[in-house]
Amino acid sequence: MKYIFVTGGVVSSLGKGLTAAALGTLLENRGLKVALQKFDPYLNLDPGTMSPYQHGEVYVLDDGAETDLDLGHYERFTSTKLSRRNNTTSGQVYQQVLDNERGGVYLGKTVQVIPHVTDEIQRRITLLANESKADVLITEVGGTVGDIEGLPFLEAIREFAQEAGPGNVCFIHVTYIPFIKAAGELKTKPTQQSVAKLREIGITPNLLVCRCERPINKEIRQKLAMFCNVPFEAVIEEKDVDHSIYEVPLMLQRERTDDLVCRTLQLDVPPANMSHWQDIIRKLIAPQHRVRIGVVGKYIELQDAYKSVYEALIHGGVANDCGVQIEQIEAEEVESGDPAKLFKGLGGILVPGGFGDRGIEGKIKAAQYARESKLPYLGLCLGMQIAVIEFGRTVLGLKRANSTEFDETTPYPVIDLQVGQKGVKQMGGTMRLGSQPCQLKPGTKTHRLYGADLIHERHRHRYEFNNDYREQYGAAGFIFAGTTPDDSLVEVIELADHPFYIATQYHPEFLSKPNHSHPLFRGFIAAAHQQMHAKPLPLPA
Ligand code: GLN
Repeated sequence: MKYIFVTGGVVSSLGKGLTAAALGTLLENRGLKVALQKFDPYLNLDPGTMSPYQHGEVYVLDDGAETDLDLGHYERFTSTKLSRRNNTTSGQVYQQVLDNERGGVYLGKTVQVIPHVTDEIQRRITLLANESKADVLITEVGGTVGDIEGLPFLEAIREFAQEAGPGNVCFIHVTYIPFIKAAGELKTKPTQQSVAKLREIGITPNLLVCRCERPINKEIRQKLAMFCNVPFEAVIEEKDVDHSIYEVPLMLQRERTDDLVCRTLQLDVPPANMSHWQDIIRKLIAPQHRVRIGVVGKYIELQDAYKSVYEALIHGGVANDCGVQIEQIEAEEVESGDPAKLFKGLGGILVPGGFGDRGIEGKIKAAQYARESKLPYLGLCLGMQIAVIEFGRTVLGLKRANSTEFDETTPYPVIDLQVGQKGVKQMGGTMRLGSQPCQLKPGTKTHRLYGADLIHERHRHRYEFNNDYREQYGAAGFIFAGTTPDDSLVEVIELADHPFYIATQYHPEFLSKPNHSHPLFRGFIAAAHQQMHAKPLPLPA
């Protein structure tokens, strides 16, 4: 078993997760079995209770774990299987250590950060290594070197590397080389200081991955190599991508990153064949077709809040050889604006998941506009609940119909708390979470797109369609295209007499990959293109 540890320097948001995932792509394509995990030094048990403003999207796994969005990159870039074991937070580590202490596991000893906390971190590395049966385990340490809360993790990986011995561990430090406009120069000092800090802890990086806006020339590379104590060829340039994050593996390959990693880890494997990946990039850079999609959300100004949704749209584009231009539309603006103006020139509208009532009326207005003007609509989780509320109010005349999440006194609670959720007080990890089976109804558009009767999709919600209204909705032409196999919960709805109006209680965006786009996103983009250009795309294979 070989281990790669990815740390970050100078500033956050450098895309360590993306770098780790892209390296995973390259190693997998060299024939290696790869596992990936993320350490998050904050004290929350998981990001499930954090606001998107704090943390961006919460990425949900099959087993229901609510995890960091970097795990989304891991799943999109590699074929690795992830579970709650793949995301460890300080909160989890301390909880385990304190449980051990109460259970008498430490036999009367004083419980300390070293060795008890660091041992627990190492135990988690070993556990994943053993369970994954991978050739290489890539571990990304969240945060930036120098953060107090990250110290136990860095000490733990240092000790771990010591035990594993030379040739088995590769340290990669992802750092930032700022360009100072006034001086017209790239600056290496922050990186030198960050590496010095790492070496103080006892970690010497094998590779420096340098994030930069401008190319780093030979002199800068020499300087970095000299002052950071790495070989010249181990200074890797990772410039901002021109078009797409999916260029990162190719960029790293050009810099021979995977060759260096394999050499450090004494892995004798053939070079990666990335031709299929190049084909994806070609479709991203120079697509045959183009389409504009409006995403109506409440965290629109945050790039990370709907990460998987944006990615899944782009994948749907790749499958149709179609470039997707995403228009981010603030739901509150729709409330007071004219939808015909706001949505002009769009091929489709997507309403993503969300919590709380801000912007709800704007989303309802968007769903109504899409339904009435036959504009393709894809609703995800809250986006399905919105579609239900809108149909109830406008078509069925249920005045003030709503979800009890937003209006507890609504006369028509068409969306209501799930039975199992009543009385739940604990917030973290208590929603309906993770992969659940769903039976699709033959003859529906959804069934045709999936080409399957039984599907499995990931969930994260407390509310659901209120079954008291099923008959009334059904009689008015609302189609329940998917339900749980026991028919107790509505999972997918769609409308007939509409080019594409599908909404799901689950989150299909979590199962989409660049080379394997999700059928609903693929169908949505094809319909949106048809809407914009009145010419159907050839149906993708
Ligand atoms: N707030 C809604 C619920 O809990 C929708 C959740 C979501 O969109 N993820 O049911």
